[in-house]
Amino acid sequence: MSPPMSARDFINGLRDEGVRIKEVGDWEHHNRNDKGPWGPVHGIMIHHTVTSGAAETVRLCRDGHPSLPGPLCHGVITKDGAVHLVGYGRANHAGLGDDDVLRAVIGEKTLPSDNEANTDGNRHFYGFECENLGDGKDPWPDAQLEAIERASAAICRHHGWTERSVIGHLEWQPGKVDPRGFSMKSMRERIHDRLK
Ligand SMILES: [Zn+2]
Repeated sequence: MSPPMSARDFINGLRDEGVRIKEVGDWEHHNRNDKGPWGPVHGIMIHHTVTSGAAETVRLCRDGHPSLPGPLCHGVITKDGAVHLVGYGRANHAGLGDDDVLRAVIGEKTLPSDNEANTDGNRHFYGFECENLGDGKDPWPDAQLEAIERASAAICRHHGWTERSVIGHLEWQPGKVDPRGFSMKSMRERIHDRLK
């Protein structure tokens, strides 16, 4: 049972972990808290955007679109390794996922396969959207992977979580494939090493 970090603790934690941050507009108060609950938080979810170009990617993740209003995550991790803070609070990134997966994340146990969409993920997960086309060919630059590792580790450190609290969207919601182009297993190993 962890209450979400304050926006100040969030940005300071990322900074302390060596993340290069860009604050976008009034990110601290841009959220979907009037649509549903935010917290308790149990983990961190990693996504790819299926977009290309930092400026357009950040704009989309901040504003969303008519059928899915923004913010679409908390931080956008662009290919240059910058983390753009676009929102804080409830965000439209995780959708409905599997309650068995949530239980495994809470217990930091091996993840079961995600075969149900019965649980509100936007309430319980921090979300990072990463600029990538998601076609399995678009490269993931080292700077970007390192930013995913550092940003995730910063949040784990605050909450006392291990790398097992970091999952991909594809591990949460049936039918999702993101992130594609690196494995969550490899990313969790990196986060584990950083947290040592
Ligand atoms: Zn996603």
